Amino acid sequence: MKKHNFSAGPCILPQEVLKKASDAILNFNGIDLSLIEISHRSKDFIAVMDKAQELALEHLGLQNKGYKALFLQGGASTQFLNVAYNLLNKKAAYLNTGTWSTKAIKEAKLFGEIVEVASSKDANFNYIPKGYAIPSDIDYFHCTSNNTIFGTQIKDFPKVSAPLVCDMSSDIFSRQLDFSKFDIIYAGAQKNMGPAGTTLVVIKEEVLGKVDRAIPSMLDYRVHAEKDSMFNTPPVFAVYVSMLTLQWLKDLGGITEIEKRNNAKAELIYSEIDRNPLFKGFAAKEDRSPMNATFNLVDEAHKDTFDALAKEAGLNGINGHRSVGGYRASMYNALPIESVQVLVDAMQELERKA
Ligand code: PLP
Repeated sequence: MKKHNFSAGPCILPQEVLKKASDAILNFNGIDLSLIEISHRSKDFIAVMDKAQELALEHLGLQNKGYKALFLQGGASTQFLNVAYNLLNKKAAYLNTGTWSTKAIKEAKLFGEIVEVASSKDANFNYIPKGYAIPSDIDYFHCTSNNTIFGTQIKDFPKVSAPLVCDMSSDIFSRQLDFSKFDIIYAGAQKNMGPAGTTLVVIKEEVLGKVDRAIPSMLDYRVHAEKDSMFNTPPVFAVYVSMLTLQWLKDLGGITEIEKRNNAKAELIYSEIDRNPLFKGFAAKEDRSPMNATFNLVDEAHKDTFDALAKEAGLNGINGHRSVGGYRASMYNALPIESVQVLVDAMQELERKA
């Protein structure tokens, strides 16, 4: 039975990428060895790493602009502390828009004073705060572009004089932005890019080297930048699959094309949520994420019927996160619009049955 994968992760990837990835496990590049058994210092793998880094910068329009793309390990969660380790001398400002921002704040507090400029915790993070003031005497400002759990997304990033750091784990490569406004962008691979196991960190090199503390090598961005993400053994499979996905995106027409597709998917699901009297959206309309649509049943009595319809239709992973309840349709780059249509059909079928 065909499955429609709305899972929030890890990892929704195009079929053709999965096929190439599985071929490479058995016989990489026709060399009769597996991708995961050759040396990461072999020319075949170095070419993969170079290409992955090049494609990441190319998609973001950051080639030859003083940026480095690094493929590191430890997930976005390690970046919560890495950012502070490398950038925080005295004081940093954070916007709190959900669970992941909260966790980033917790880690950064170990390194200095953290000013929470605004928070939407008062409404269970169903909106993005606006109109807040950012202090000028900060080492950097941190925000989370897409709130995977709550289904909100920052549409307009604040102007800051300090370095701008952004966790783009769940919407990287999904929409066009002026990425040169950002000094550090980080993203766990496992939504729009590749399997869990590597984290993309894009850094404007000039922001590094300004903290007083000693930084352990594995946590020092400069060490990884100097060694082109090869300071230690990189997660070769995750980097390879990320490279394939970035190439798939390029062949498709890049971020410009995928953004159109993502907007069409978002339009389809959100217009049904707004039209269908049995459902209500969770996130404030103006802050809705095209990546993660969160919605609830108006009357929980329909839950069993809707869950059965969803199962019958092959809809996978639509249960909401426990902190929101209801449903969450994650529509990462690789999810086809046909799958969203199947979800909408199930919602309409419920309306007919109710
Ligand atoms: N930040 C965001 C926005 C996320 O969605 C996630 C995971 O879903 C994380 C951070 C944590 O990522 P990781 O599991 O790679 O540490």
